[in-house]
Amino acid sequence: MPGRTAFVYHPAFEDRGLSPFPSVWRRYRLTRDLVRERNLPVVEIAPEPAGRETLLRAHTARYVDFVRAASRAGFGFLDEGDTPAYPGVYERACASVGASVCGARLVAGGEFDHAFNPGGGLHHAKADSAGGFCVFNDIVVAVRILQREFRLSRIAILDIDGHHCDGTQEMLYREPLLKISLHRFGPGFFPGTGSAEETGEGDGEGYCLNIPLPEDTDSAAYRAAFHGRVPGAIRGYRPEIILMQCGVDGEKGDPLVGMSLSENTYREVAAAVHGLAHELCGGRLLLFGGGGYRPERVAACWTAILETVCEPRTP
Ligand SMILES: [Zn+2]
Ligand SMILES: [Zn+2]
Repeated sequence: MPGRTAFVYHPAFEDRGLSPFPSVWRRYRLTRDLVRERNLPVVEIAPEPAGRETLLRAHTARYVDFVRAASRAGFGFLDEGDTPAYPGVYERACASVGASVCGARLVAGGEFDHAFNPGGGLHHAKADSAGGFCVFNDIVVAVRILQREFRLSRIAILDIDGHHCDGTQEMLYREPLLKISLHRFGPGFFPGTGSAEETGEGDGEGYCLNIPLPEDTDSAAYRAAFHGRVPGAIRGYRPEIILMQCGVDGEKGDPLVGMSLSENTYREVAAAVHGLAHELCGGRLLLFGGGGYRPERVAACWTAILETVCEPRTP
């Protein structure tokens, strides 16, 4: 039904991106154009950038001030050399977070069933550091909004990016929030975390499900891993809302990851998660962007995912 899915889009996504590769910055604009061209039944929403107070729900004041100062200085890197600092990087990162906060409020507040922020999913950012093209962790900020403003406690986070969600995992490791990640894992592959032995600590013990996959994992192996573990874990958790980070850098041909997934695999995963959201939590589903380094392919895969969750739910 039209009007049940929000496409949250800030024009700042079209500016210089958070990665050092200018060739990938176009992916947001291409996605927006394709969503319009295909006439998807979504409502385009323009979010407010997040303010400092909102960032402090997940990040230290020291780190937020460091990013703001680096943004004013306008050169260098925010980490060891992956995530560039440039004039306006703070504002750019605040737009990503603001869009995720906006999507969280629209869905948890009941105005929409689903929301997609292509500019979000920045899962490598930690409480006090940047990493892997991620400045602020908009997923964790959205979790804090859901907990504090909407009193949600059973929040499931699924991360399908080709890289492990080290920032999201670290920031939520001791909390009973379900965190599932499927990612390439092996010696020398970034970020190095995400083994099956990392299962959570304290109150979070048993709430972290890592599904590490080898280089060259193809669609058949990925589907088997997904269907074998993920729906059962989400059903067992009985979430009030599902968050899905939709990095598509596991697609065959992506230059950074080296997995071999098809666009149809992303459709299939999105359809399964969409079905679970309607089965378990009134449809509440928040989608975030993430990795993906061939702009046209990223736009195609994200649009396919969005199209899938716009379909009427099939029983
Ligand atoms: Zn990635
Ligand atoms: Zn739906």
